[in-house]
Amino acid sequence: MPGFELFGDAERKELNDVLENGVLMRYGFDGMRNGHWKAKELERELERRFGVKHAQLTSSGTAALNVALAVMGVGAGDEVIMPSFTFVASFESIMASGATPVLVEIDDTLTLDPAAVEAAITENTKVVMPVHMCGSMADLDALKAICKKHNLLLLEDACQAFGGSYKGEMLGSIGDAGTFSFDFVKTITCGEGGVVITNNSDYAVHADQYSDHGHDHLGSDRGAETHPILGYNYRISELHAAVGLGQISKMDDFIAIQRRNHGVLKQALSSIPEVTFRRVPDPEGDSCGFLSFFMPTAELSNKVVDAFKEHGIDAYWNYYNNNWHYIRRWDHLKDMKSLFPLSDQLKEGLKNIRNQEFPQSDDFMSRNISCLIKLSWTEDEVKDRAERMVTAIKSIL
Ligand SMILES: *Cc1c(COP(=O)(O)O)cnc(C)c1O
Repeated sequence: MPGFELFGDAERKELNDVLENGVLMRYGFDGMRNGHWKAKELERELERRFGVKHAQLTSSGTAALNVALAVMGVGAGDEVIMPSFTFVASFESIMASGATPVLVEIDDTLTLDPAAVEAAITENTKVVMPVHMCGSMADLDALKAICKKHNLLLLEDACQAFGGSYKGEMLGSIGDAGTFSFDFVKTITCGEGGVVITNNSDYAVHADQYSDHGHDHLGSDRGAETHPILGYNYRISELHAAVGLGQISKMDDFIAIQRRNHGVLKQALSSIPEVTFRRVPDPEGDSCGFLSFFMPTAELSNKVVDAFKEHGIDAYWNYYNNNWHYIRRWDHLKDMKSLFPLSDQLKEGLKNIRNQEFPQSDDFMSRNISCLIKLSWTEDEVKDRAERMVTAIKSIL
């Protein structure tokens, strides 16, 4: 998955355009830039590749979530439904908006369980936020139907599934808004960066303003601009956008490499009857950034982790035991370790989270192993890896 593995001349060329004119900021300084608008160019390229009307770059994927929630009007008293297995940015951005994160079970897709979503809806629910974890997607038809029935907004966190699709539409473009991260370990990297994509023109205007202190971006005198709304600074720099432009020119190659490497490993592991794979609602749309499989028991998956180590295999995780991605280890959230006072509504909403149980998620997560698919592996390395993985798993059965 990490695009940094194939950092090269395309990125250096785009960066040099910026370094030569010295305009590191995405707005203003028209006369000095020699026609280079890297952030704008990357936004147009993302719109084209994702088939959406609007893309708003931000300083990070987390910032993109903050902006998306803001333009959706999410704030104090609202609830946002999110999965128990995700990156911490999900609850961080919801809490930053003043709303309450409502965590629900995942299923064998390793993403939101639609039944659990529906059961968690209250009169305060405003948004359902599926997170397309580890390269593949949530059951978007089911989630869309639930949102329609209950008049809720759908925000796709597609940060880990860049380039994937669902029934012919790009992931991230299917909900009311979608987000990607371009941090250093994502499929396409800007160093740091993110984007909100949407077909909603009101969201687009507000995302443009909100991510830059509420500026209206009218005319060419930044100092004379008015501020129709309150905003923050979530701007991307021209340097970061330039790196992204270089990277995105290789997007199709990156996804093709992931799919090829993923295919080799998956075929090899399919020969082991005890191994089952995550359910992928649209297998053709899998971005293949990871290969995720289940062992029959948690005990066996722990043994596989040890066996992989012994056989020199790297870049895999049992996220059940991981500090970053699963509710089980999020003590800072459960203990509400905030530097500043939280609202009464938020405290009330999180009050029971320490005692909330996730038996279904625990089952899938404890049996799961997710393997990163790298872009830099040679064909021989992938084949060798596949053989070693099979040998390692068979050694513990
Ligand atoms: C990486 C990631 C983010 C946040 O991205 P940053 O750019 O690191 O802030 C959000 N959600 C998911 C699922 C991610 O993997």
